[in-house]
Amino acid sequence: MHAETLRSVVLLGSTGSIGTQALDVIAANPGGFKVAALAAGGGKVELLARQAAEFGVEAVAVADAAAVPALKEALAGHGAHPVVLGGPEGVAEAAAWQSDMVLNGITGALGLTSTLVALEAGRTLALANKESLIIGGPLVKRLAKPGQLLPVDSEHSALQQCLWASGPDAYDPGSVRRLVVTASGGPFRGMRREEMADVTPEMALAHPTWSMGPVITINSATLVNKGLEVIEAHLLFDLDFDRIEVVVHPQSIIHSMVEYVDGSTIAQASPPDMRLPIALALGHPHRVPGAARGIDWTKAHTWTFEPLDDVAFPSVALARHVGTEGGTAPAVYNAANEACLEAFMLGGLPFLAIVDTVAKVVEEHQVTPADSVEEVLAADAWARARAAELTAGYSR
Ligand code: MG
Repeated sequence: MHAETLRSVVLLGSTGSIGTQALDVIAANPGGFKVAALAAGGGKVELLARQAAEFGVEAVAVADAAAVPALKEALAGHGAHPVVLGGPEGVAEAAAWQSDMVLNGITGALGLTSTLVALEAGRTLALANKESLIIGGPLVKRLAKPGQLLPVDSEHSALQQCLWASGPDAYDPGSVRRLVVTASGGPFRGMRREEMADVTPEMALAHPTWSMGPVITINSATLVNKGLEVIEAHLLFDLDFDRIEVVVHPQSIIHSMVEYVDGSTIAQASPPDMRLPIALALGHPHRVPGAARGIDWTKAHTWTFEPLDDVAFPSVALARHVGTEGGTAPAVYNAANEACLEAFMLGGLPFLAIVDTVAKVVEEHQVTPADSVEEVLAADAWARARAAELTAGYSR
């Protein structure tokens, strides 16, 4: 980063996996960035207060308004006195706080409001909350100006970097034959469907290559995360689903690839570390020196690739289906999955029943165009309620 381009950042979801790694990047580049405001759910007020004090922020928000008194006490303990905001309105106020850029690292469908608020306020939006783009596709795309939305997902950050090789001019979809999104395959790669019948939450939470929050980790075990990422790639890069392929690459070094019309494939490679895509979005269009380590070529490496097993992992094909339907269908896929994850982690729902139930809810849903936030949230609420009905009766 150039020292003269000090960039102020609002960080949403600051106590989560993306948030804490973003603060690592910012702390290592004090001449490049400053933090204007932080927002978090409210479950970790001590960590949030420590972050607020360390980065000298102007405002702090917690989604859970009941956490405000504890947050104020923790802030006072650190000698910090920023503006304190509470409730979903407080998080929205933080999203619109004066800044150059908003990094949305909130987990799940809850992140939609913040995405829309940040775009409406004209901020550059570094988007780690893929769900908001996926469920609010038409709304987000209508609001986002060219270049306003920067992906933080490692695959999409990789695709973006590979697309910079499309030629000296701006991105030309006509020069691209297909996008190739890589997947680690998760902890159950290579298993047949019936071998996953007795998978427990503990087993699903043990990801082989990436260290992430619990929702995305289980989504990586079912490959729902890859399904969401295929929809995300379609929305970000305006290519039809038959031009977006998934390939399993267990080492998670190649983060995605672009194949051009002449048969050339450009791949982006780096050790798995979210600080790289975070830094690339925060520093855009400059690269942040030292954001992550590179590949160690003094050691031997083997990179392997294998096709996705759509029978064992039907979630990606289901995502293509809802993505092609469009409208409220992706929101229903995502919401039913979030409800089923909860039932799996807390309610004894069998692992295979997660995606089976999502498929049932998707099939029952009457798709509408998703033209308003209310419509998206109504579809989201319906899908959660229906998934809860279908998964009631299990117990751990
Ligand atoms: Mg990803």
